[in-house]
This record gives sequence, C-alpha cells and structure tokens, in this order.
Amino acid sequence: MSLFENTLAQIAKASALMGLNPGVRELISRHERILEVSVPVKMDDGTWRVFTGYRCQHNSIRGPYKGGIRFHPDVDLGEVKALSAWMTMKCAVVGIPLGGGKGGIIVDPKKLSARELETMTREYARAITPFIGPEMDIPAPDVYTTGQIMGWIADEYSKIQGRNVLGVVTGKLLAAGGSQGRDTATSQGGMHVLEEYLRESGKTAPGMTVAIQGFGNAGSFMAKFLFEKGFKVVAVSDSKSGLFCVEGLNVPVVMSGKAAKGSVADCLDAGNNCQVITNEQLLTLDVDILVLSALENQVHKDNAETVKAKVVLELANGPVTPEADDILARRGIPVIPDILANAGGVTVSYFELVQNQANYYWSAEEVQAKLKPIMVSAWQAISANAKQYNCTFREAAFISALRRIEDAYKARRSI
Ligand code: GLU
Repeated sequence: MSLFENTLAQIAKASALMGLNPGVRELISRHERILEVSVPVKMDDGTWRVFTGYRCQHNSIRGPYKGGIRFHPDVDLGEVKALSAWMTMKCAVVGIPLGGGKGGIIVDPKKLSARELETMTREYARAITPFIGPEMDIPAPDVYTTGQIMGWIADEYSKIQGRNVLGVVTGKLLAAGGSQGRDTATSQGGMHVLEEYLRESGKTAPGMTVAIQGFGNAGSFMAKFLFEKGFKVVAVSDSKSGLFCVEGLNVPVVMSGKAAKGSVADCLDAGNNCQVITNEQLLTLDVDILVLSALENQVHKDNAETVKAKVVLELANGPVTPEADDILARRGIPVIPDILANAGGVTVSYFELVQNQANYYWSAEEVQAKLKPIMVSAWQAISANAKQYNCTFREAAFISALRRIEDAYKARRSI
C-alpha cells in the first residue's frame, strides 16, 4: 500500500462513520495539482546534478495550500501526496483557514556543502515560484529543512517578484520575518493535547515515563517540555540509535550533547547507567507514553503487538500504519493522531503568515495565548466525536476535519 492509499483508507473509514457527502469524498480523493520539477545544481567539484523535486497541492476549499518541504533521500511522490492530504485534514482539525500542500526533494542534505544546499534550495524555489505565494501556497519546514532554508526561499521568491513577500513561506528565522514560538510550536501543541488527554482520562500521575522516537525539531523540544514538567523521559532516539536510562535522562544534557557530538548515543553522561538501544527496542519499552516524532510507518503490522506503552502520541506524520492502528485499537492502546497532535506547528505558521501580511509582530506571550485555546478546543471536539461515534481518536479527528471541509464545499459550491 502506498502512503497515499493509507490516507485514502483513513478518509474512507471516517466518511462511512459520519456519512460524508459523496461528492466531497470524491473531490478530496484527488489532488488539485501535482508538480514535479528538475532542480539543477553545479556541485563544488564542477559536475552538474539534477535533483527531483515535488510540490503537491491537495485541496484549497478552506484556503491557500499550506505545508512543509522535506529534503530526504526517501522522498517519493506517493509520500508527498499523502503528506499534502494530511495537511488538508490538519488545518481543518484546528480550524485555521488553510488547505493542504507538501513538497520535497529527493536528496540527502547531509551530503551537500552549505553552498550546494543553498543553490539547490534557490533553484527549487524558482521552479515552484509560479505556483506559490501568500494567497496560493505557503511552504514551511519539514524533515531536514530549517529556518535558514525558508529564508532562502523567501529571498529568492522576493527577488523574482521584485518586492518583499515574506509571507510566501513560514518557519523563517525571527530576523527574516519569522514568528515567536514557531520553532517550539509543534511540541508545544503536542503538550497541550497530551495534557488535555491525561487530564480527561484521569491518568495524570507524577513521574510518568516517556519514550521518544526521533530527536529532530519536534522530538527534542517535546523531550525538553516533558522533562521540565516532571515527566520521566527514559529513552530518546535519533536516526542512528537510541539512549535509555531507567531513572530518566537529563534532557538538556542530551540536547547539548547531540548538538556537539551529532548523536544521542554519544550522550551516555545524561543519566545513571545509560544504555545504547536501537530504535526498534525503544518502540517496545514498557512506558506510560510513547511519542513518535521521526518518520512515517514506524509502528506497523509486524511490531504493533510488541508496543507496551499505555498511549501513543504521533508528533511525526503517519508514524502508525492503518494495520498497526487496528492492532493498537484492539489492544486498547489509544493513539493521539498526527493531524491533531502535531498541528501546533502549522497553527503558529498561520500566525506567522498573518503577522507577515500585516507587517506587525506579536510577542511570545501573545503567540502562546492564541495557540493553547486552538489546541484545547480541537482536542475537545475530537474527544466528543470519539464518544459520539464510538471510534478511535484518529477516526474522530478525521470526522472533525471532514465536517469542516464539507461545510466549506457547501458554503461555496452546490454540492
Ligand atoms: N511540516 C509541518 C507539518 O507537517 C509544518 C507545516 C507548516 O507549518 O506549514 O505540519
């Protein structure tokens, strides 16, 4: 099954439960536009390479396309199609007036020099320039793309337009028109949702244990917030390996160690008797909370039976496959789904866009004060749906999103 077929299966389940309008169902099964572009780069050794880039624009009935760009060797069209459709759902779940898009380049950015990376980014930006803009499609960071990379895209686009158009991308550095709180927004939003879930289910207890797969932007800040709130982070991992400490890791030590040495496995000084473990072992730890913040398809039909966590929080996009979803549901392990759990990122991206368009910037406190009620009310709607339809949180989140998408179609077209 391709990743996009997974997305269609999720849509099908929720549509059946809620009785989605068949016209809407048909319209959202297709992308409005799919771009494949060649990205030529003269490498430092004088040779030319042409990278393949994509931008998928899934649906814009609720507003301009919105979603990240990833630079990764495993990018493929099916993945970008799925990720863009999830963005449509994610924006609808939190009720921000945006649609869904996603882009990617098939490349291992760690193998490029700084100059090659900048050239490739600017060439990609040129290639998609006719199809992006603050009222059309607004990219953002995703796996292995950063605020600096977003700054290059804003700069290239602005040069082509002959004026400053900072709102063409979000997730920029503060000095280039970024928003306060955007870097921590995905994990901050995940914290709000997790806290609401724990409060509502009466499961809050001091020193709850957590394992976190993935130590990029979302995973590392999530680890930090959980640590600061008194959760016991017993394991973290990155793409190379994991680190486990039964007494709990000192997360700031892991963060600075990873920045200095390049991998979490090199941070054995972050706790007593730390052990190096594999990513696969991390998934099977007996913890209260398993946070998935790496890539898609991490929990699948062959390892879902071995998950021992009491709840799974998806900070990554698509880390649990549909087959694994069924297994976890049968085993009574709730999954707080990606399109809700990681929606804090795109929500603060929306705030960034609004600030860019108004050319008026908010304080960190204002950003936090606006983010929390959005995440909490999205959670409450999903929790209510889960009870009303007697379904999983994922199905409940899709129902929330699809209802808003259906309302937008009805309000704009005779469907
Ligand atoms: N890449 C992030 C996501 O998957 C953020 C997208 C955005 O801010 O537009 O939600």
